[in-house]
Amino acid sequence: MSGFIYEKDADGIVTVTMDMNGPVNSMNEEYRQLMGDTITRLQAEEGLTGVVLASAKKVFFAGGNLYDLLAAQEEDIPQFMQELDLTKGQLRSLEKLPVPVVAAINGAALGGGFEICLACNHRIAWDNRAVQLGLPEVSLGLLPGGGGVVRMVNLLGLQAALPYLLEGTRVSPEKALAAGMIHETVASVDELVPRAKAWILENKDNEAAAVQPWDVKGHKIPGGNAAHPANAQMITAAPAMLFQKTRGLLPAPIKILDCAVEAARLNLDTALVVESRGLAELAITPEAKNQISTFFFGMNKVNGGASRPQDIEPQKTTKVGVLGAGMMGQGIAYVSAMAGIEVVLKDISQEAADQGKAYSETLLAKRVAKGRMDQAKADAILALIKPTAEDADLQGCDLVIEAVFENMELKHKITKDLQGYLAEDGIWGSNTSTLPITQLAEVATKPENFIGIHFFSPVDKMPLVEIICGEQTGDVALAKAFDYCKQIRKTPIVVNDSLGFFTSRTFGTYLDEGMQLLVDGVHPIQVDNLGKAIGMPVGPLQVHDEVSLELTKKAGQTHADLGVLDQWGDGSVGRAVIATMVDEHGRGGRHHGGGFYEYAADGSRSLWPTLLDLYHKPETDLPAQDIKDRLLFRQVIESLKCLEGGVLRSVADGNIGSIMGIGAPVWTGGFIQFVNTYGLQRFIDRCAELEAAYGERFKAPAIVSDKLAAGEIFE
Ligand code: NAD
Repeated sequence: MSGFIYEKDADGIVTVTMDMNGPVNSMNEEYRQLMGDTITRLQAEEGLTGVVLASAKKVFFAGGNLYDLLAAQEEDIPQFMQELDLTKGQLRSLEKLPVPVVAAINGAALGGGFEICLACNHRIAWDNRAVQLGLPEVSLGLLPGGGGVVRMVNLLGLQAALPYLLEGTRVSPEKALAAGMIHETVASVDELVPRAKAWILENKDNEAAAVQPWDVKGHKIPGGNAAHPANAQMITAAPAMLFQKTRGLLPAPIKILDCAVEAARLNLDTALVVESRGLAELAITPEAKNQISTFFFGMNKVNGGASRPQDIEPQKTTKVGVLGAGMMGQGIAYVSAMAGIEVVLKDISQEAADQGKAYSETLLAKRVAKGRMDQAKADAILALIKPTAEDADLQGCDLVIEAVFENMELKHKITKDLQGYLAEDGIWGSNTSTLPITQLAEVATKPENFIGIHFFSPVDKMPLVEIICGEQTGDVALAKAFDYCKQIRKTPIVVNDSLGFFTSRTFGTYLDEGMQLLVDGVHPIQVDNLGKAIGMPVGPLQVHDEVSLELTKKAGQTHADLGVLDQWGDGSVGRAVIATMVDEHGRGGRHHGGGFYEYAADGSRSLWPTLLDLYHKPETDLPAQDIKDRLLFRQVIESLKCLEGGVLRSVADGNIGSIMGIGAPVWTGGFIQFVNTYGLQRFIDRCAELEAAYGERFKAPAIVSDKLAAGEIFE
C-alpha cells in the first residue's frame, strides 16, 4: 500500500508513515493531496493525543519536485504560487494542531524534507551517517520556499540561520542537535517511533509542547529582530560581502539574505508570503535552470553510471600499483589507501618512493591532529601503502596507474617492462595529461585493457577524474576504471581519446584567449579581472602562471613532435607570447621564478612591469562585455566542438567536467548547459559578432544550428 499510512494506537497517538509512489517521498501533486487529506483527518480525529510523522523510505523525504521547478516559466508563476500557498498552509495547519507533532527522521531530510520537520514541534533523528539534514536549495539556485528560511530564522536567530541558508550546508544529526536544528537523536532506527511516542506521553500535560516557538505569545527571535543593533549592522554589511563572494553572478544567495532579513522583520505569516515570492522569482532565472540541470540531473546521470557499460558486473580494485611517486603518484596512493585499497607505490629509488609515502603520512597526521581520525585508523591506512623500487612488488596488481614523467618513450618503456606483473585481466591506466592513449597503448600486449585515468592536482582535493578510452579500450577496462573512481569517491567523466582530451583542451582556450587579449593590448590586470568577473576562479594570465608557461611550452613541443600542432586551431599568437616570455625573458611561471606576475617571498603578487612595455596599448579600448564573452565563449565553443567531434560522450559529462575540472562558473551550469539558457539562436548571433570582430575562432560549431533546427536543447 502506498500513500500516507495512518495508524492510531491505544494512547491516541497517530503515526503517519509517508510512503509515496515511486522510490522517494517528494513534494508533488500526490504529496499535496495526501498531506491535505491527512491534516483534515487529524483535525477531526477524536481522542488524538499526538502525531508522529515517519517515513517508510530510506530517505525521510526528498524535497521539492525539481522536474516542476525546471519546467517553470514566467507564465506558470500564478499556479506555482498557488501550490506553494497550499503546501505552506498545510504545514502551518500541521504545526497548529492542538497536540504535539513529532518528526521521526530515519533518513536524509534535505530541502523540502527538512522544511516538513521544521513544521513539527519536536524533531528526533537517527544518529547515523545516512541521515543528513539541511537546506541545500542555494546550490540549485533556489531558496527554501516551504517555510525553511522563515522557520530557521525564527528558530535559530538571523545570524545563526544564515550560514545554513546561504551555504546550504548538510549536517549530521549530531551537528544538527548541537546547532538546535533538532531536539534529540536515537542510536538505532528501531528506537525512533517508540521514542517519539514516549516524548508525546511525557508531555501529555504540557500544553506548550504543542505550540511552535514562533506561535508562543510574545515570541522573540533569538538574537533579536532585524532592528536589533547587532543585526542592523550585519544587514548593512552583508550584501557587499555576499557580492564579493558571488561576484554578483548568483541571484539565490542575495534573495535568501533578503527573505531572511524580512523574516526577522515581519510577522511569520507575512514573511512566509515574501519567501514564496522569492522562490517563484528564483525558479524562473536561467541560473536556477542551469544549476538544477547540472548539479542535480547531470550529476545523477554521471554518478549513476550513464557513461559506464551497463552489462559489466561491478569491478572492485583490491591492489593498485602506482608508478611514479611524484606530485600525482603520491596523491593517487593516498586517495586509494584512504578507500582501503592496497597500494604499491613505485619510483626509481627506494628513497623517492619513501618520500612519496611521506606525503600520505603528513596528510594523515593533519587529520589526526584535527580530531578527524584516530591514530589507529591512520596507521592502518598508512600500512596499506608499500613504497618500493622493486618491479616484482607489482606482482598481482589488478590495476596499475602510471604517473611518471610526461614522456612517450619513457611511458612506452615502462609499459613494456611492467605490464607482465599485472594480475590476469588486470587493467593498465595512464595518468598522462597530454599524450594520446591510443598511441600509448601501442606497446600494450592487451590494448583492450589500457585506459587513461586522468587525475587533477592536488589529487586529494580535486573531485573529478577524466577517464579516457583509447581506440581499443574495452568495456571491462572502462568499467574497472569507473568503479575504481567511485571506490576512491571521485566523480568520473568518460571521454574519447583526442589531443588534450576534454578538460585540458577546453582549459587551453582560456589560457590562449588570455594571451590573445594581452597581444591586443588590453591591460593584463583588466584581462584577469574580467576573467574573474565571468565567474572563473582565477584570471587567465594568473592561472597560466600557476600551471606554468614552461608546461605550455613543453606541451607545444610535444604536439610538434607528434605532428599535431594546431590541430584544434591556430595557436601562433599564444606560441609567440610563450616564446617571448619563456625563451627571451626567462618567465616560466610562478614556480620558475615568475611569469606574467612577480611573486614576493611574503606570497604577495604584482604585475611583472616589463609586461606592459611588451604588450600594453593604452589606446586599446575593447568593450568589457566583449572581453568577458571572448573568455567565456572560447571555452563554450571548444566544449561544443568536443561534443560534436565525439570526444565528449554526453552533455552531462561535459557540464560536470567543466565545472569540476576546469572551474567553469557555477551560474552557467557548465559550458554546454550555458548555451541552453543563453538561447541557441542568440548564441549563434553573438558568435557571429565576435567572429566578425576578432576572428574565426569564434565561429559557432554546426552542432548548435543543428540542435536549433531540430527544436532541441543540449541534454
Ligand atoms: P613528477 O615529476 O612530480 O613525478 C614523476 C615521478 O615519476 C618522479 O617521482 C620520478 O622519479 C618518477 N619516475 C620517473 N621515471 C620512473 C620510472 N622509470 N619508474 C618509476 N618512477 C619513475 O610528475 P607529476 O606532476 O606527478 O606528473 C606525473 C604524470 O601525471 C605526468 O604524465 C603528468 O603529465 C601527469 N599529470 C600531471 C598533473 C599535474 O598537475 N602535475 C595533472 C594531471 C596529470
